[in-house]
Amino acid sequence: MKFIKKFDHYLTAIFVITIIVIVATSFFTFKEIFARSTQKQQEAIMPLLSLITSEIIKPITVSQFMASDPFLQEYIQQDKIDSNIVFNYITSISNQFNTLSFIAMEKHQLLIDSKRKVTNLNAEDAEWYHRLKAINKTKFIDFGDAENPHLFFDVKMFNKQQEFIGFVGLAIDLDYFSTKFKEFKENFGFEVYFIDENDYITLSSSQLMKTTSHHRRDSLTNINELEWYQNYQRAKQSNSGSDSENNNDNSIFSFSNDDLIVSQIPLKELNWRVFIVAPPVTEQSAYWQLFLQKFIVFLIVSLVLYYIFNLCIRNFRTDLVKDSETDYLTKLPNRSFIHWRYSQLGKEFEHVSVIIADIDNFKVINDTYGHLFGDDVLKIIAKELGKKLRNIDLVGRWGGEEFIFLLPDTNALQAQEIVDRIRKSIEKIPFSPSSTSKKFNITVSFGVSDSSLANVALEDILIKADQALYNAKANGRNQVVVHFE
Ligand code: GH3
Ligand code: MG
Ligand code: MG
Repeated sequence: MKFIKKFDHYLTAIFVITIIVIVATSFFTFKEIFARSTQKQQEAIMPLLSLITSEIIKPITVSQFMASDPFLQEYIQQDKIDSNIVFNYITSISNQFNTLSFIAMEKHQLLIDSKRKVTNLNAEDAEWYHRLKAINKTKFIDFGDAENPHLFFDVKMFNKQQEFIGFVGLAIDLDYFSTKFKEFKENFGFEVYFIDENDYITLSSSQLMKTTSHHRRDSLTNINELEWYQNYQRAKQSNSGSDSENNNDNSIFSFSNDDLIVSQIPLKELNWRVFIVAPPVTEQSAYWQLFLQKFIVFLIVSLVLYYIFNLCIRNFRTDLVKDSETDYLTKLPNRSFIHWRYSQLGKEFEHVSVIIADIDNFKVINDTYGHLFGDDVLKIIAKELGKKLRNIDLVGRWGGEEFIFLLPDTNALQAQEIVDRIRKSIEKIPFSPSSTSKKFNITVSFGVSDSSLANVALEDILIKADQALYNAKANGRNQVVVHFE
């Protein structure tokens, strides 16, 4: 029994350890997935920065360079100009930087671009020229060309006397940006927003960008209308109370709420800001959902397995224990179980009666009718012995044709009464071996002894019961004799 309890503990421990190991392994696997996704976000910044540098900072710088080129300044102020020279100039820039470039000359009221298109500044196409000229700024980023939308970098030119003499600039195909942004979104799963100084979205990876109208001033979206931005601003404000550094637009500021991680990169050259809006937390919660789902399935499967396994073991063990504690022939508890039961009695009871029962002249029965008949007799008598007992009582086969009763909380005289009733019922059983037609009875003798359970060995009581049995045999058998001190 002790061994079996230990076995149970080992089994449970093995299961618990297995579950812990598997849970820990999956936890660390998921942790790694999170780490990788974070790394991916960081990796995403690099291509974005390179896009900003090559497609925004560079054109702005080149446009500024052109605007401050003394040769160009001087040439376009001449009374007569050769449009081929101007064209060659802007074409060389255009080829070098792989963009569309243009120059608009105040004096000649002409706009020449690198596609060799010459437009009069009074034309409708040149509406932007007058609009931007009127604004007290030198650098502009503007959208134009409805059929083939471009992002124009316009820089005002001034002569030495600081008089306005025209515009130069480059234009980037907006399709190029949308392709790039699409790539970002596919590769990294985030949205990019370029915001101008008036909080309008100038470029974006979201649907907002897909407008075809010429000079999209009317259709521009203000970032304050977007929900994530409102949350972002709120978080920023509550943050700025404790840490004013974070409120500084000159630094990269990150914010995350339950749904999004928003990073802001300032574009000082243009007074713009770039926002990267990533959904890692949503992703993470998807991961966690996945993790939880897997974990729950794993747990259920483990528990079911554990339950089935335990059930099998328990059945197997019950059979095993029963076998090891039961006498094969009579199906009564065997000697080893009688010992175990006696060892347990002391925990519950103070007193016990122990009775030895021995079949009378069994040797003769065996010798006369054979061992097989003897076995049948043993089985029948064994069955009869256990019939009139309480649940707490026990009768087992001690060996041979001897049986032992353990009757707790029963004194010798009560025990005598009980077993005498059993004796009487046995002596009435008619036995008829197949080899003969006559019927006969078989009797049993009983020796009774009682004792306190405190520190008394079973063997000590048995000696006295055995003496009583000896007297029963000596007195003529088929009787119950009590051992008295
Ligand atoms: P008494 O009345 O004095 O007890 O006489 P007895 O013949 O019963 O006594 P004894 O102890 O000399 O004989 C017991 C016999 O029981 C001897 C043995 O062959 C027989 N026996 C013991 N175990 C078994 C068994 O499992 N099956 C059969 N058939 N006989 C058994
Ligand atoms: Mg005997
Ligand atoms: Mg006998």
